[in-house]
Amino acid sequence: MIIANWKANGGFTSNIAWHKELTQIFSNDEFLDIGIAPSHIHFTQIQKIFEDSNLEVGLQDIDFSGGARTGSISASMASDAGCTFSLLGHSERRHLFNEDDALIKTKIKAALSNGIKPILCIGESEECLKARKTRDFLKNQLISALSGIELIDKVVIAYEPIWAIGTGNTPTPKDINSIHEFIKDVVQSSSANNIEPKVIYGGSVSHENAEGFFGEINIDGALIGGASLKANSFADIVKIYRKVKRK
Ligand code: PEP
Repeated sequence: MIIANWKANGGFTSNIAWHKELTQIFSNDEFLDIGIAPSHIHFTQIQKIFEDSNLEVGLQDIDFSGGARTGSISASMASDAGCTFSLLGHSERRHLFNEDDALIKTKIKAALSNGIKPILCIGESEECLKARKTRDFLKNQLISALSGIELIDKVVIAYEPIWAIGTGNTPTPKDINSIHEFIKDVVQSSSANNIEPKVIYGGSVSHENAEGFFGEINIDGALIGGASLKANSFADIVKIYRKVKRK
């Protein structure tokens, strides 16, 4: 799966231009396995302008509960609006909004019980990488967020090393492949029903480096920030994904 994470970017006029450009490249039935996570405020617009296509529209975050929680979007509201997936535990949410693994676990449960596919984001810092503690760290993030939960087979883990997000630096495709294999093993053995998840990679993916990533067997797609903001560079990555994975 290829997912665009627009973060706090986009605008009602520029979104229409983005849609126009993308639909000049792909026809409406060519969006299978492609998702966009626009800002909450643009969710309905994006859903409407892509309504004739098979593109999935999701959110960048949801809350674990509704009611007296000013500023929040609950999982049931998201589901009611037609949201099919949500990023959860993105490193920017963890660091800028102090989200911890326990909170992220409650969000995963809320997403699952409302029929929303969770895209759980995990990833190590540069210090952790240098201290050679990446695997222990990722295992801890996965177990804290998923242990004991009955997963749906569509659950997706996004491996996003923090040091690779928006920096132009990335691990090698082989290193990512081996980490993804590790993630699949940990999730399979720690979830209540032994589901092997899809694992996508995020962190400075561009049309220049995408081919190397998608050539690896355990890299099932990508989460794309900066390069998703321009329709043509996002489309180039989608084309590479299709060519390499033959989808
Ligand atoms: C992200 O933040 O999810 C991300 C992948 O960003 P970028 O592609 O800009 O590194």
